Amino acid sequence: MNKKLYLYNTASRKKELFEPQHDEVGLYCCGPTVYNYAHVGNFRTYIFEDILKRTLLSLGHKVKHVVNITDVGHLTSDADSGEDKMEKGAQREGKSVWDIAAFYTEKFMENIHDLHISDADVWPKATDHIQEMIDCIKALEENGITYRTSDGIYFDTTKFPTYCDFAGLDPENLEAGSRVDMGEKKNPTDFALWKFSPKDVKRQMEWDSPWGKGFPGWHIECSAMSLKYLKQPIDIHCGGIDHIRIHHTNEIAQVEAASNKQYVRFWLHGEFLVLDKGKMAKSAGGFITLDKIKEKGIDPLAYKLFSYSAHYRTPLTFSWEGLQSAENSLNNLRSLILKETVGVQESKDAKSVEAVLQDFWQALYDDLNMPKATAALWEIVRNTTIEPSIKKAAYLQIDSILALDLFAGKQEKVVAASSMDGGDVRVVSTGDVSDEIAQEIISMVTERKLARKNKDFALADTLRDKLKAMQVEVKDMPDGSTECVVAGK
Ligand code: AMP
Ligand code: ZN
Repeated sequence: MNKKLYLYNTASRKKELFEPQHDEVGLYCCGPTVYNYAHVGNFRTYIFEDILKRTLLSLGHKVKHVVNITDVGHLTSDADSGEDKMEKGAQREGKSVWDIAAFYTEKFMENIHDLHISDADVWPKATDHIQEMIDCIKALEENGITYRTSDGIYFDTTKFPTYCDFAGLDPENLEAGSRVDMGEKKNPTDFALWKFSPKDVKRQMEWDSPWGKGFPGWHIECSAMSLKYLKQPIDIHCGGIDHIRIHHTNEIAQVEAASNKQYVRFWLHGEFLVLDKGKMAKSAGGFITLDKIKEKGIDPLAYKLFSYSAHYRTPLTFSWEGLQSAENSLNNLRSLILKETVGVQESKDAKSVEAVLQDFWQALYDDLNMPKATAALWEIVRNTTIEPSIKKAAYLQIDSILALDLFAGKQEKVVAASSMDGGDVRVVSTGDVSDEIAQEIISMVTERKLARKNKDFALADTLRDKLKAMQVEVKDMPDGSTECVVAGK
């Protein structure tokens, strides 16, 4: 198979063949602002970025993956007004900003691991890179692109003529219909590079700079940290779609105005996870965290499988029903895979394995089409003509991308049994089933057997329906015995 990766580049608005610029693919993903829990919408974006990284690795590329931790400077409005989200979080919880940052960073990492998202190679914190940010601002100042107001140092977007190109902004409309709080800004799109600490409020996080005490703007943080760890032009820079209009537009302006060189080759943006009543956002409250999913006893990886049900460039609506059905699918997948592969050695016949994986790779290399890739996995599971050893080798490769713990199925065991004239009855489960429930199942099945013997089919059907409602699958076996499959805990 011709293994070529095509990715949709927001900059060109088309799918392009991906070719690395350097020996090692540089991958920068905008990370969390650690003033609150990350919600499952945020994790949708990190899952898609992890699929991208795993896909690059599957092609034999070396990858350097950088995800920043924003622990200062992200204001409640992307247009440089409002409060610092971190300082606001600290006030909300009566803790220091540093404690808030440490707590939510740890929580974030815990959830990243729950979701089997691979660790970045570098997790730079904004507060550890203030000097690098000051250096970037100085370079812009030397190129005559900045100006000073009473509250900070700003980037003059009229000095970067292609400012509107990336997001397809209409410069006319920006001026006329602007609802941006202009303050002393010269143009609505100008943005803060450095903000001065307010005179009347003592900030917990502030640093000296050539312009006065203050803190960096959020956009300069990502530019400074990405260029510290990755070579320019950076191969791929990712984030959610909300970043296109302001954050990434501003990043391009800063870096390209300072260096006169392309900043990033490929820009990839993930669509939002939405609630049926609108977008899921930290600032909007009422968002769903991964911990809430865990509290309900749902496997975090079920959320991961749920996220694969839509292409990363289409919105996905969260629902508990959808998540539950993803968990059922995941359990089914795992138990089918276990049945087929338990005790089986994976095949070394690379050619045959490759043939089985063709549809899977094709879906993945066509702009990370996860719904198709997941469907390709199901095709392999359902195909009874493929040898188990080949299937096992294929599943191993698939799980190196999907990271769903596909071999974690639990083996079925008999949890209760009864012998009777009309054939034995067994209750089997992959989990634990209480004695009470197991005995109830046995007595209902025994009653059903008797009803059938007495040709009382109406009663037999009623009992079967009742068992079904209890999520018990009744299988009448050729030897006359009956097997009752129940999920268990
Ligand atoms: P933040 O911590 O708010 O800076 O966001 C972290 C990442 O999650 C960024 O890439 C955002 O674009 C992305 N993001 C924010 N909200 C959502 C959402 N509802 N669905 C998917 N991604 C999101
Ligand atoms: Zn960023």
